[in-house]
Amino acid sequence: MDPTRAEAEALDAADPLAPFRDRFVVPDDDLVYLDGNSLGRLPKATVAALERTVRDEWGGDLIRSWDTWLDLPAELGDLLAATVLGARPGEVVVSDSTTVNLYKLAAAALRERPGAVVTDDDDFPTDRFVLAALAEDHGRELRTIGTDLDAGLDPARLAAALDGDVALVSLSHVAYRSGALLDLAEVTDAVHRAGALVLWDLSHSVGAVPVDLAAAGADLAVGCTYKYLNGGPGSPAFLYVREGLELRSPVQGWFGVPDQFAMGPAYEPKPGAARFLTGTPPVLGLRAVEEGVRLVAEAGIAAVRAKGVALGQLAVRLADAAGLRVASPRDPARRGNHVTIHHPDAEALCRKLVASGVVPDFRTPERIRLGFAPLTTRFTDVWDGVVRLQELAPG
Ligand SMILES: *Cc1c(COP(=O)(O)O)cnc(C)c1O
Repeated sequence: MDPTRAEAEALDAADPLAPFRDRFVVPDDDLVYLDGNSLGRLPKATVAALERTVRDEWGGDLIRSWDTWLDLPAELGDLLAATVLGARPGEVVVSDSTTVNLYKLAAAALRERPGAVVTDDDDFPTDRFVLAALAEDHGRELRTIGTDLDAGLDPARLAAALDGDVALVSLSHVAYRSGALLDLAEVTDAVHRAGALVLWDLSHSVGAVPVDLAAAGADLAVGCTYKYLNGGPGSPAFLYVREGLELRSPVQGWFGVPDQFAMGPAYEPKPGAARFLTGTPPVLGLRAVEEGVRLVAEAGIAAVRAKGVALGQLAVRLADAAGLRVASPRDPARRGNHVTIHHPDAEALCRKLVASGVVPDFRTPERIRLGFAPLTTRFTDVWDGVVRLQELAPG
């Protein structure tokens, strides 16, 4: 089959990021794991960091550890800002889940601006659900743009939806199913010309695709840390608020004030994104996020993206050679770090793949998502995965 496995082996041999695989816990080297975009692998440094945190900080120092734990959400936010988000200090914090952060930021934006809420009909379910309820609660029109499942949102249709009074446009940078990638700066500009605020969900781009929020002038953003950032199951999400945007959090929690242990009579928000912190942060999850982000930062997002594109292009060539239909943009400049295959038997095929030691993701309707985590996925994993898919696909 063209490309050959020897070609994949040669790509692995020449891969500057190949040594990073050894920095992760890989108990079964033969497992073809193509789901690092749903749950990234476990960094070895995280095992050590969690052991230290649990045994020394929790077990030993007990409550005194809050001296260092208290600043983790903002410190980690600054680390994310500097390494993978292109944001300034104070613009990012790590807290809660992506769903909750989306709710907080969207609600704050609607409190600030009159007008409609604009999103697309193929956005991730939690995003659509949160926005629908908020639009209803605030008595706003919800404008949902029809989007092609495979090609992603058409910027011309977005422009048409930006007519009249719009308060907020909320979109995913990379579409969770197809991997379709929007131009963050261009869309942000278009939204600003319409007088609205933009809220980006970066769950499928952060740690995989370069993001420069400050250069784009983006207003708001949220995203997961357990995907390409390898923060572990349920690790806390991040939120970004552009400097100078003075919004009010709908959850006025005690961690959003400058000195929560003053136990003051009234809520006075911290400056910057930190006012969107709510309650006691999940320290173990934060420690895990820290190690995951440090690995991506060490590799460098440009190198990560370059390998992600190469892995994706190999998958597309293999799928073409196997007669499989690619349900993602073919141009790598318009695609994030996963490639989706359309097959009528996708769900059953996925089960067979998992049973055979290849782990992709099934996504409705009739789609198999192959996610490539550049720090751990080998070119031979892509070859083995797509070839196995071809062998198991009926017809
Ligand atoms: C994974 C993902 C989420 C998940 O949100 P949680 O609150 O962590 O469950 C949200 N939005 C997008 C676009 C995602 O890809």
